[in-house]
Amino acid sequence: MNDTPSTAPTSPSGDELVALDRRHLLHPWTPHGVSEQLMIVAGQGCEVTDAHGRTYLDGRSGQFNATLGYGNKRVLDALSEQAGKLMTYALLGASNEPAVLLGARLAELLGEPLTRTLFCNSGSESTEAALRIVRMYHAISGRPERTTIISLADCYHGTTTAATAMMANPMAWTGCGPRPEGFVQIPSPTRCGACAAGAEHEECVVPGPEALEEAILAAGADTVAAFFVEPVLGVGGIRPLPDGYLRAVREICDRHGVLLVLDEVTTGLGRTGAWFAHQREGITPDLVTMAKGLTSGYAPLAAVTMTERIADVFATDPMLGGLRHGHTTSGHGLGTAVALSVLRVIEEDGLVENAAAMGDRLQSGLREQIGSLDGVRDVRGLGLMVGVEFDSMARGFEVQAACAAAGVIVRCEGTVLSVAPPLIVTAEQVDRIVGALRDAVAASTGEFP
Ligand code: PLP
Repeated sequence: MNDTPSTAPTSPSGDELVALDRRHLLHPWTPHGVSEQLMIVAGQGCEVTDAHGRTYLDGRSGQFNATLGYGNKRVLDALSEQAGKLMTYALLGASNEPAVLLGARLAELLGEPLTRTLFCNSGSESTEAALRIVRMYHAISGRPERTTIISLADCYHGTTTAATAMMANPMAWTGCGPRPEGFVQIPSPTRCGACAAGAEHEECVVPGPEALEEAILAAGADTVAAFFVEPVLGVGGIRPLPDGYLRAVREICDRHGVLLVLDEVTTGLGRTGAWFAHQREGITPDLVTMAKGLTSGYAPLAAVTMTERIADVFATDPMLGGLRHGHTTSGHGLGTAVALSVLRVIEEDGLVENAAAMGDRLQSGLREQIGSLDGVRDVRGLGLMVGVEFDSMARGFEVQAACAAAGVIVRCEGTVLSVAPPLIVTAEQVDRIVGALRDAVAASTGEFP
């Protein structure tokens, strides 16, 4: 019997959805059978409702992307208005209005000389595009031997073959065939769980930016194309880079003719209390990738913004006189119209400032309430991107489950639980998240603050 409904005269029950999900979906990065824990059917503001009618405060913004929360009327209006006008058209000599306006707005937000944008559909695609752009840029400029890509060992830049080649984590590439050549990882400049030597917190020596220079020299400076880096290692454990690190690697890259690519897929567009996290360090990257918060999850869209100097080189490409890269849906009208409205809402509602203020409240609340409890190794973060590191994975998952039972969604990966509510979160909601975590950790350790 085929249990897939061909039409949907009535909505399936929660249990039916779970059964269909188990049978027909293959979930990304999810152990089989786990997906039915959260079968979300609707959302409003910072809250989501599951198929069983339970409502949760979304302490993780979906997958870090729902920065405006759910059901934002201004975004939904922009989406439906554009849908009635024109969906697509941005490839092979064509362009469209929202894509052009969004490119211009991103140039304003990033500032000179980051003025030229290529659109794609996911964060991984933006990594892939940036990678091909930096290699082609060098090749067209007469330096075809500059192909090596350097990244941090604990990075996450996406799930394409090239993006996984940047990661040291064998979860990303085991069993996927030969790894592409030309990728070098350096130790991450962050403490504890990410320490390559597995040293205890206190004795861990944090590798500094000099690891980049050593890797460039070891590879041969004239063979290195670019260094890719996230301002906060996200999947790698919500680890902000130390102050000054980005300024130091900018100098090192300049010294050796290496391009600096900032992966702002998660950190960009307000998440850290700045429009872009690298702006906090006052540096100018050569390329910036972004996705998640760009559309707040209302439509798929990602982007790579680069300097004029890099973009202009493609005019001299001997094969095309342009960039040999792109997708049918690059610059899709819906995604770009949604992104324009999202950026407008962020500005009109002062959400970058709210992210900074609520991020401070969240981090100080968590430090005060659970920072010194047994079982909690660290509370850290930047703006509204916060990680709580536990002494074991089991404790992290216990706390995640207890928070869900209390109506708050947070998520544990390895030993680190991430907390990243939408940028619209209120003080009262932040306090609810902190309270749920306090109660969950206290119940797990038997120690009450
Ligand atoms: N880069 C970073 C820093 C990310 O965190 C992610 C996803 O989590 C990606 C790239 C890949 O983005 P996507 O999942 O949209 O392909």
